[in-house]
Amino acid sequence: MAGRIHNFNPGPAALPVEVLEEAAESLLDFKGSGMSIMEMSHRSAAFEEILNDAVARLKRLLKLTDDFKVIFMQGGASSQFFMVPMNLIPEGSSADYINTGTWSTKAIKEIEILKKRYKVVASSEDRNFRYIPKDFSFTPGAAYVHITSNNTIKGTQWATFPTTDGQPLVADMSSDILSRPFDAKPFGLIYAGAQKNLGPAGVTVVIIREDMLEREPKNLPTMLRYSTHVSKNSLYNTPPCVNIYMVQLCLKWLEETVGGLEAIARINKEKADLIYGLIDSNPFYKGTADPDSRSLMNVTFRLPSEDLEKKFVAQAGGNGMGGLKGHRSVGGCRASLYNAVTLDAVRDLVAFMKDFAQANA
Ligand SMILES: *Cc1c(COP(=O)(O)O)cnc(C)c1O
Repeated sequence: MAGRIHNFNPGPAALPVEVLEEAAESLLDFKGSGMSIMEMSHRSAAFEEILNDAVARLKRLLKLTDDFKVIFMQGGASSQFFMVPMNLIPEGSSADYINTGTWSTKAIKEIEILKKRYKVVASSEDRNFRYIPKDFSFTPGAAYVHITSNNTIKGTQWATFPTTDGQPLVADMSSDILSRPFDAKPFGLIYAGAQKNLGPAGVTVVIIREDMLEREPKNLPTMLRYSTHVSKNSLYNTPPCVNIYMVQLCLKWLEETVGGLEAIARINKEKADLIYGLIDSNPFYKGTADPDSRSLMNVTFRLPSEDLEKKFVAQAGGNGMGGLKGHRSVGGCRASLYNAVTLDAVRDLVAFMKDFAQANA
């Protein structure tokens, strides 16, 4: 497809061009059905096939055992910040949270509003969330331990997940799900807004272990219960059909074109290493995350001045590279390297960064 830029947006973010091409066709006529994917009933056999295929692919990619259920929800990852404590903390129990940045802080704010009991067992706020904490111990019997696997705004990521004393992990994986393989066994629930690594904005994937469903209180509205969506296979009400279709295409691309999570993890590592390699060898750029906590998905860095950062973002834009401005809350620059961002795009960015440093040092 002509005229596409290198898209380093943090989310909504780059999608594989093959996915966009197939989707473009389906917008006019879905597989010869005589109607658009947007016009199909969510109760049709064709849509159910899409939905079930998406679930099956996600389960295969993540090697999920049958006790894990996959549902598609609305309201973004942000709605999971309250749904998780509403559903998963039994009367009299409390939950542990690790605060590693903006999104964890927002998750904690919601449990606070609900007046549920919780404890922040570790935080990296003391150094503006530049690192992933290493010292923590968990509350015996805690309902779950909540973590944010990748901190999209601060540019840090859990390289390995914490080992609990049996408390299930709950993770916001919005910005690194399917970027690498991991063992799902210690997780009771995983959620992710689609718009970083799974598809366009508008649907949220929730992976929930069956036994977690037994905790839900009796007084929750129907739509706010995980069990409603699990028992109806995400079809209790009208789901965001087109979004689920887009996720299915992205999963198919990841499985069949890329070759799965080991393959994408190698590519993602190579992409991140290219940029961090430059940052570490060129004093013009300064990484903002501690090296042992760096994110492979969102590379955050500063230039010698805010004026140069503005110039960098503008000039990169002029060179066909978009989305490099840091989050408004932290400033600086950020390159988001989600699955659909190609190695070639990153090579071009690194070449541009070298030239820019030389011209402006
Ligand atoms: C983007 C993001 C969110 C917010 O997702 P919404 O779908 O906009 O609610 C939450 N957590 C993380 C880690 C994110 O990257």
